[in-house]
Amino acid sequence: MDKIRMKTPLVEMDGDEMTRVLWKWIKEILIEPFVDLKTEYYDLGLKERDKTDDKVTVDSANATLKYGVAVKCATITPNAQRVEEYNLKKMWKSPNGTIRAILDGTVFRAPILVDGITPYIPTWKKPIVIARHAYGDIYKAVDGKTGKGTAELSFYNEKGEKVTETVFDFKDGGVVCAMHNTDKSIESFARSCFNYALDMKLPLWFSTKDTISKIYDGNFKKIFNEIYEKEYKEKFEKAGIEYMYTLIDDVVARIVRSEGGIVWACKNYDGDVMSDMVATAYGSLAMMTSVLVSPAGIYEYEAAHGTVTRHYYKYIKGEETSTNPVATIFAWTGALKKRGELDNIPELVSFAERLEKATIDTIEGGEMTGDLVALFHKDGVSPKKLNSREFLSAIAKRLN
Ligand code: NAP
Ligand code: MG
Repeated sequence: MDKIRMKTPLVEMDGDEMTRVLWKWIKEILIEPFVDLKTEYYDLGLKERDKTDDKVTVDSANATLKYGVAVKCATITPNAQRVEEYNLKKMWKSPNGTIRAILDGTVFRAPILVDGITPYIPTWKKPIVIARHAYGDIYKAVDGKTGKGTAELSFYNEKGEKVTETVFDFKDGGVVCAMHNTDKSIESFARSCFNYALDMKLPLWFSTKDTISKIYDGNFKKIFNEIYEKEYKEKFEKAGIEYMYTLIDDVVARIVRSEGGIVWACKNYDGDVMSDMVATAYGSLAMMTSVLVSPAGIYEYEAAHGTVTRHYYKYIKGEETSTNPVATIFAWTGALKKRGELDNIPELVSFAERLEKATIDTIEGGEMTGDLVALFHKDGVSPKKLNSREFLSAIAKRLN
């Protein structure tokens, strides 16, 4: 059989620990036998980041700007213990943070649905995608503890004029907090959400609490509405999908009653909270896709989980592990599919779709990794636990 040819290389960002092991096996067992894989390889493993003073991370992000599509393996974000373990020159920043700052994106997370793993909310039949704004609000806030006294909020404009408002006259101790966001960041968040919804042909719901936070949340609502009317309304109508803005409590109620199939755009804190709720309600972190979409239409695909350190320590002792590779497989299929669409290679798109289907069929047929066994209930199928390599081979059998 002829292998599928690619035109433009994918930016390949290798990573750490157990996911680095899975990365190699996924390529070897599921991709390279079928695709003449063309990638520009960047090793974001912690050793190489340390060796290059983290230049490799910046280079990989710049390559993504150049080529448009990247696939990223999970990486260690070093803490004090990692600095010792890897004898690092310094405590390097999170590679995801560095890459996001360069690509200026929004993170979309969607569950991978499998027949046999029932969401805790049984009416959810289709994925609910959370689009989380990843800048500002309480994540960049200034806060403090007060005693008796007056808290004020001041703003100096370009001319040096000062506008001051009283926050509160404290009769006793209390707390204050000042947060911010920028129009530019909100605009790029809005465009990323509109582009993603169009791409997936899913309706977009955006929620804030602008009835209470009239100016702050009101600004988010206004920017989304203006960009929608000017740039996206026609495209949405053509695609037959809706954009709806409503209050966050209203969306929570609608989401619970829905059957899924929605992109839910959330402010930073709302997205933090709601994505954990949605991920848990669907089953498992290893069954969740994650993609960073920039307003310029650049895509970086990854798994939503970490490097699965606990399994890796077992693996290097020679013990067998049953780590779930599904999210990492879907990072690859997402990236290959997007590359195929952009370069007009229908065989590549259909290969990625077949690989996703084979992965899901394998689980639905009762062969899965250990984390899914307890979650799986399907009449006439008793789930069988495979190790990671056996699971990948079971998927490969369905591809041939
Ligand atoms: P983690 O790697 O997501 O793993 C936490 C636990 O969740 C695992 O011990 C395992 O539970 C379960 N789990 C996660 N993914 C799994 C999979 N694919 N298959 C089976 N079980 C899975 O999180 P962590 O242990 O907190 O972090 C480890 C490292 O990953 C850290 O150095 C952190 O910096 C990094 N990290 C990277 C990213 C990223 O690059 N996107 C994201 C998060 C964390 P059991 O042990 O109970 O089996
Ligand atoms: Mg969280």
